[in-house]
Amino acid sequence: MNITKRVSKPRVLISEQDLQRRVTELAKEIDSDYADTTRLVAIGVLKGSVFFMVDLLKQVHVPVQVDFFQTSSYGEGTSPGEVRIRKDIDLSIRGADVLLIEDIVDTGFTLRTILDLLRFRGARSVKLCALLDKVSRRQVEVPIDYRGFEIDDHFVIGYGLDLADYYRNLPYIGIYEGDT
Ligand code: 5GP
Repeated sequence: MNITKRVSKPRVLISEQDLQRRVTELAKEIDSDYADTTRLVAIGVLKGSVFFMVDLLKQVHVPVQVDFFQTSSYGEGTSPGEVRIRKDIDLSIRGADVLLIEDIVDTGFTLRTILDLLRFRGARSVKLCALLDKVSRRQVEVPIDYRGFEIDDHFVIGYGLDLADYYRNLPYIGIYEGDT
């Protein structure tokens, strides 16, 4: 990407304050739902989920282990329906309650692939926590157990979401209106 094309101030879709309020609500729900777990593993999908995951897990008080997946993004020799794991988790999840944490569910292909893999590996339970849900774009069904916000079909950036790896550190969710 040509850096000079970067917009200096994207239009705010979800403010920092609204994000933090919702993250606190989600953490409370998670804490109460997993109060009796014997082993909880939170798994983030790199890199977009990181900012959300850190804020969320700092407010979760049940003991939790942390791990990460990284998948190949589109345009790196894959089509949307073809998701490849670039970095696998390090922990065994057999018998564990797994909470998968993702920044955004768009077509659903990425999450569908990961959810199937986690179940195949013998997790006791697998739930999905996604900050954003672009529900109108869905191509495969993905049940979202903890959903931050439903959004319309915009290309969004900030709070972990990127454009060519820029903008992840915006404290809010903005709408990118330039060329992608
Ligand atoms: P899915 O497999 O659900 O189509 O895509 C999920 C991935 O696509 C997300 O983890 C994210 O990396 C990327 N993605 C989908 N929509 C957007 C968007 O509006 N903005 C950004 N920055 N990434 C997106």
